[in-house]
Amino acid sequence: MSLETQTNSEGERESDDPDNSALATALHQVENASKYVNVDKGVIERLKESTRVVQVTVPLERDDGTVETYTGYRAQHDDVRGPYKGGIRYHPDVSSKESQGLAMWMTWKCAVMDLPFGGAKGGIVVDPDDLSEGEMERLTRRFTEELRDVIGPTKDIAAPDMGTNSQTMAWMMDAYSMQQGETIPGVVTGKPPVVGGSKGRKEAPGRSVAIITREFINYQNRDLEETTIAIQGYGSVGANAARTLDDWGADIVSVSDIKGAIYDPSGLDTHAVPSYSEEPNAVTTHDAPTLLSADEIFKLDVDVLIPAAIGGVLTKDNADDVQADIIVEGANGPTTTGADEIFEEHDIPVLPDILANAGGVTVSYFEWLQDINRREWSLERVHNELESQMLSSWEDVYTTYETKDVTWREAAYVVALERIGKAKSTRGLWP
Ligand code: GLU
Repeated sequence: MSLETQTNSEGERESDDPDNSALATALHQVENASKYVNVDKGVIERLKESTRVVQVTVPLERDDGTVETYTGYRAQHDDVRGPYKGGIRYHPDVSSKESQGLAMWMTWKCAVMDLPFGGAKGGIVVDPDDLSEGEMERLTRRFTEELRDVIGPTKDIAAPDMGTNSQTMAWMMDAYSMQQGETIPGVVTGKPPVVGGSKGRKEAPGRSVAIITREFINYQNRDLEETTIAIQGYGSVGANAARTLDDWGADIVSVSDIKGAIYDPSGLDTHAVPSYSEEPNAVTTHDAPTLLSADEIFKLDVDVLIPAAIGGVLTKDNADDVQADIIVEGANGPTTTGADEIFEEHDIPVLPDILANAGGVTVSYFEWLQDINRREWSLERVHNELESQMLSSWEDVYTTYETKDVTWREAAYVVALERIGKAKSTRGLWP
């Protein structure tokens, strides 16, 4: 079967094969992991559904005076452990189903990290590159207003995701606060620090990818300084993971964006390669010995491959070509079920997204704590607390991996599902 592909706003390829959709992959993963946990079957069935999916219509007055109508969603998957939590995505592929799949992953991610949050995700079906700054602001404010009844600092807390950023979160916070009649920074995380954002939040998903990579290399008794790494996608996650691992001594031999990949077997100067926010899709303008096509990065013979762009890029059609020893998922859902099976056959460990990129939501939690307490943490404190939270979850996952005959993804799911299952049975079903 050939996969059709299309391009997103950050220019990464995405498969539109429905079997590779976020929801299909997420449902398969939970069903598969449920074999290894002692959680009531009824609870597992409930966890395959979202508690609520809100669809809204968002009218926008364009700069030329015409009015266009967009569709937005917020999927609230589960809140047994605390308020719903998750990002807002602006992308042409946003859909109800995609939001539900991504919301599920947020529930597991928060549970693996032992954060007192559930999972949500949402967004608007729009290509943000088609909108001016003013149009983005009006669209965001109206979307926030449409969601006002279902979000809130103790109900459902939004954050940036693909196509949105800290400025989007500042507009959401302002729109929500203006209607509530008081400043409520805790309704969203990932804000600019000047309006209650946390230091270190922007770098956090990439930093956690670097921490999990480092820990896994140590776990395998390898040396990070002898490790070669290829990173697909040079946006916030990819560039921060690359630069952190580079600073810690690893050799980042290849990075890519939509336009292609650059390769230098002696290691790239990752700080000099422009990230998406520094200059969009300009990785290949950096001088490097070898220029490759965007897809060739998956075939490189490296120690670690980090897909850090969009979901569904490692499929059964290209998984056989992967020569890396280890995969660390920087993106949400980059590996389809078919690819996962091939990597298992080939003994390639896949360190899952719900652990590896969970630094983002973990520092979101720190931001939320700072907001409700009206206190500001230093960057050093954020780094220290992130490090210890990551290490503690990493220990939970590798202990599970060592005690059960499971993959790394299954081990992370076991940790998450057991925490959620216990919370469900302790709270009970009402009425
Ligand atoms: N969008 C990010 C993620 O997928 C962060 C979510 C959050 O901080 O709530 O993990």
